Amino acid sequence: MYTKDEFKQRFRAMDTEELILNASRPLTDEAMEATKEILAERGYTGDAAREKTKEVIRAHLQGSGVTRNCDYCGATLHGAVPAQGQKFCSHRCRTQSALAVIALDFAPETIAEHARQLRNGRCPRCQRQGEVVEVRSIRRMVSVVILSVEDRYDLCCCRGCYEKELRSALIVSGLLGWWSFKGLFANIGVVMDGLESLRRRDAPDPSPALIAHASLDLAQKSLAQTPA
Ligand SMILES: [Zn+2]
Ligand SMILES: [Zn+2]
Repeated sequence: MYTKDEFKQRFRAMDTEELILNASRPLTDEAMEATKEILAERGYTGDAAREKTKEVIRAHLQGSGVTRNCDYCGATLHGAVPAQGQKFCSHRCRTQSALAVIALDFAPETIAEHARQLRNGRCPRCQRQGEVVEVRSIRRMVSVVILSVEDRYDLCCCRGCYEKELRSALIVSGLLGWWSFKGLFANIGVVMDGLESLRRRDAPDPSPALIAHASLDLAQKSLAQTPA
C-alpha cells in the first residue's frame, strides 16, 4: 500500500490528462488525495478542476483508440459497430458512451441521490420492493478442448435475482469450465470468485458501479424528456 506522498511522486510524472483518466476508476483515498493535490499544484482547484476533468473525460469518451478495442468498454472487437469515427463492440456500448458524455453535466450530489433511490427502489428484474438493488458482477467460464470463453457482466437487480443468476453461472462454470488446458487453471479462480460473491454482503452505501449506472440512467431519462 502506497502512502499519499508515494502516490504524489508517481503521479507527478503523468501529464494532466493521464492523471485525470487514472482517477476515473476507483482509487484508494490516498491516491485520490494525491491526485487532487497535484491538480491543485497545476492550478486546477474547485470549479477549474471539475471543468478540466469533464473536458478530459469528454474527449476520452468521444475519441477513438488506435487498438482494435471497443472505445467504451475496452473489449477486443470482432465485428465493430462504427459511430462517427469511433468503434464499439456493441450497440449497447455505443449508447452507453453517448449517455456517459451527457452524464458529465450532472452534479455528483444529484447522481448520488439517484443511486440511493435506485438502491431502495423496485428490482428492475423481478419488480419486487424491499431488497437492496445493486450492480453486482458475474463471471462464468465454458471450456471446450482448446477454447475457453470467460464471460463477465454486471447486473443491476435485487440480491435474490443476483444470487439466482450467480448460482446458475456457478453451475455452468462448475460443469463446463474445466475442459481445456487454460480452463483447468483459470476456472478455479472463476468458481472461487463466484463462491466468494455469494458470501459477500453488500456495503452500506451505493457501490461505484451503481453510481455509474445511476448517472447513465439519469442521462437516459433526460434524453427521454427532451423533445426531439
Ligand atoms: Zn464495448
Ligand atoms: Zn429481483
